[in-house]
Amino acid sequence: MNTSSIENNYVLPVEKGREYDVIVMGGGVSGSIAGIASARHGAKTLVIERHGFLGGALTAMGVGPMMSFHNRAGKQLVKGIPQEIIDRLKAKNASPGHIPDSTTYCSTVTPFDCEQLKIELETMLIESGGEIQYHTQLAHVEKKDNKIESVVVCNNNGLTQFGASVYIDATGDADLAKMAGVQCTIGRGSDAAMQPMTMNLKTGNVDIESIRAYVKNNPGDFRFAFGAEEGLRRLEKTPRLSLAGYLSEWDAAVDNGELDIPRDLVLFFETATSGVVIVNTTRIQSLNPTIAEDISRAETIGRQQCSQLFTFLKKHCTGFEHAVNLGTSVHIGIRESRHIRGLYTLTAEDLIQERQFHDPVAMGGYPIDIHSPDKAETVSTHLRPECAYRIPERCMLVEKPDNLIVVGRAVSATHEASAAIRVSPIAMAVGQAGGTLAALAVVHRIGPNMVPYSELRNTLLSDNVILP
Ligand SMILES: Cc1cc2nc3c(=O)[nH]c(=O)nc-3n(C[C@H](O)[C@H](O)[C@H](O)COP(=O)(O)OP(=O)(O)OC[C@H]3O[C@@H](n4cnc5c(N)ncnc54)[C@H](O)[C@@H]3O)c2cc1C
Repeated sequence: MNTSSIENNYVLPVEKGREYDVIVMGGGVSGSIAGIASARHGAKTLVIERHGFLGGALTAMGVGPMMSFHNRAGKQLVKGIPQEIIDRLKAKNASPGHIPDSTTYCSTVTPFDCEQLKIELETMLIESGGEIQYHTQLAHVEKKDNKIESVVVCNNNGLTQFGASVYIDATGDADLAKMAGVQCTIGRGSDAAMQPMTMNLKTGNVDIESIRAYVKNNPGDFRFAFGAEEGLRRLEKTPRLSLAGYLSEWDAAVDNGELDIPRDLVLFFETATSGVVIVNTTRIQSLNPTIAEDISRAETIGRQQCSQLFTFLKKHCTGFEHAVNLGTSVHIGIRESRHIRGLYTLTAEDLIQERQFHDPVAMGGYPIDIHSPDKAETVSTHLRPECAYRIPERCMLVEKPDNLIVVGRAVSATHEASAAIRVSPIAMAVGQAGGTLAALAVVHRIGPNMVPYSELRNTLLSDNVILP
């Protein structure tokens, strides 16, 4: 047994855990895929996750569908391990695959069964030789010189110290990076305001056919990013609905005082199971998800908004009359919190101009999608249909500590750029890049910054990753 002193002179007992090549903190989709990639390339890998399952936002925050693997012109930009996951889900009837997005916001959306996603992620990680420690939260980071020496985690065993050669922060909130002294920013440049949190609501027994008929007869009651004509055309083709609307019902309910949610419409997505719908509509603003008291308040407000929303849906929205409430998500949805300040900070201009970098590790075409931090609107910057922007390796890396890689939502990007690259397919692609880089660093016994880009690129390409 080891001891680790903390600031107020308490001395807490810390067990010594096993040593790993790579420790991934956080088992959301980016962390899970980083773990799979790292283990597949031979590194002894541990994924540490505070919940009892993998998938993060997609399984704990009730988020879905994945959107989007494609750009607006329909070209697929994310493949590799993320596509393998979709293939496995499809084989189990747990996803219809990439289907037309009837909101027209993207070309495709990818619904999935949340339970099967948890199973596929952990199966793939274990098949790759990776290990998982659930119900375990990061408590402390030990540093020496320019390196992270160990992490101390907290779970039923008390405090345990784990060491590794390379650490991957996949917490979404950059918890590990922050504790390791990495400079982080929060929210938009002007006032640090962040995108709002959302408590997603899952409803069942929704009458999809009556919604389809209602939309056909009342297209003006819905918002289509690229016109009602295209929306109705996609509605005919898609096996699962995605819609933004009930505009008149929403406005009337706000006027009547039935709704007190700072939003302007109902955004909802049918899951892989027909008639089961994720309602992504509540909005909790001006609270900081990295502050414990704020996140507790957000959970409470989010649940109250969901209750109000469910009553509204049943009373006023065609198709929801007999809906059943399948519950709120395990964890309030966090769109944005900390962004690390890495070796390069991705900007909106980089995405819009499709800036070419010497070190791209992932690509995307999703628009800049900003749910207003302080208003009811959502502001979107749609990119040209063929847009294929690049995310450089340097967005995952920091000057110090030099054995840290950051993947997923917290990579180095401005508020605006993050609003595009935060979506799950891109977070997964960055996860694969980060896990692969970690394993290469371990093989060569060098820091991730020292791995030649050409080697990382060739490895990713041979693993079916799409790169320019
Ligand atoms: C309301 C909402 C709607 C969204 N809608 C869509 C959508 O329709 N389509 C889409 O593709 N994307 C959507 N997104 C974005 C997307 O889901 C996420 O940005 C993406 O999944 C992030 O993945 P990640 O792995 O980086 O982070 P996360 O999924 O947040 O994973 C982080 C993981 O780390 C764990 N963790 C965190 N801190 C610690 C700690 N200290 N110790 C141990 N474990 C820790 C968490 O439990 C979690 O499992 C939405 C997000 C939200 C919040």
